[in-house]
Amino acid sequence: MSTILYLAHTEADGTLAKISREALTAAHQLAAGMGAELAVGLVGEDVGAAAESVAGCKARFLGVSGDAFSQGRYASDLAAAEALFKAVNPDMVVAPASFRFSRAIPGLAVRVQGRVDTHLTGLEAKDGKPVAKRWFYRQRMVGEFSRDERPWIVTVDAGCFEAFEESGSADVELVQVSLPEMRTTVTGIQAPDADEQTIRPDAKTLLVAGAGWTKKQADGQSHVDVAEEVLMQFLGATKASLGSSKSLVDISGEGQAVISFLTHLHQVGQTGSTPRHAKGLATCCHGEEPHVVGWRFINERRAINTDASCGWAQGKADVLYVADAFELMKKVNELL
Ligand SMILES: Cc1cc2nc3c(=O)[nH]c(=O)nc-3n(C[C@H](O)[C@H](O)[C@H](O)COP(=O)(O)OP(=O)(O)OC[C@H]3O[C@@H](n4cnc5c(N)ncnc54)[C@H](O)[C@@H]3O)c2cc1C
Repeated sequence: MSTILYLAHTEADGTLAKISREALTAAHQLAAGMGAELAVGLVGEDVGAAAESVAGCKARFLGVSGDAFSQGRYASDLAAAEALFKAVNPDMVVAPASFRFSRAIPGLAVRVQGRVDTHLTGLEAKDGKPVAKRWFYRQRMVGEFSRDERPWIVTVDAGCFEAFEESGSADVELVQVSLPEMRTTVTGIQAPDADEQTIRPDAKTLLVAGAGWTKKQADGQSHVDVAEEVLMQFLGATKASLGSSKSLVDISGEGQAVISFLTHLHQVGQTGSTPRHAKGLATCCHGEEPHVVGWRFINERRAINTDASCGWAQGKADVLYVADAFELMKKVNELL
């Protein structure tokens, strides 16, 4: 009989996060479909309460606990996962694609000479065999696949399974881990204010900044400092999400003046993201096809460009304002 090991870590308050309980549902259903045994391996400062919160899955419970495992750290998380793996010797490992385990679990596959697939959006047994589902090429294609190699290690994305809720009493076998010398000491987590985050998937509007913001303007000078101020003022007042064209985020590599709060994560397009905001406003962006394909889920599109024959004018925007975005956005900010 094959064995599935579900691995998860506790949160700071000793509970299991929703994503972890969702991955447990995936592992539990898979084990039932494959007729496999299920083992639950938990990592954290104290794993007792977390084990009891999901004890209804009727699995064998193992735990690695202690101060060293209270916070995420690649070396200690990997050592714990490896110890739990060796105690169970499973064919498959199912873990949540949490921030903490997305870093550590692929390393487990290397240690145990297994195969790893991350960010699964589906996992089920078909004819007694595990079949996984995930998106490829930045969510353009969804694929269903299986592997013959074992151990097969997978992480499951959030929001794809119901969170496991059945509690009970659990008898946890504690597994000892001898940690290697630790070079990293976790002293705490520093997170920026939620307001400082400019990628806001829940916002109604997406503001896209293009390379024009850094180009020489009518006076022969570039005004990146003004551009930053205008964009930030708009984002602050509207709580819109910020996107960028590839040219603008690539400029940093060319040693030119850059908009300091843009990263490659902001890039929208063929090789960037495909945001889903209801409305989008492109500013100083030409509207080239490789950029505009990233707009395909945005229904109401507007653009500001000094060039009346830019890409947006070729049927890619509902409204094109042929205007200087510096002037126009300053005016918009005043009105806001
Ligand atoms: C394989 C491949 C993949 C690609 N993937 C992507 C991708 O994922 N995302 C992406 O964005 N691009 C991608 N590109 C690049 C894309 O083709 C364009 O080069 C890029 O999008 C251009 O960026 P831009 O419009 O910001 O800059 P530019 O083309 O330099 O356009 C700047 C615009 O700003 C306007 N402007 C200047 N000053 C002002 C002003 N004061 N007011 C108003 N308008 C002003 C100009 O008229 C101009 O239209 C890809 C290209 C290839 C070949």
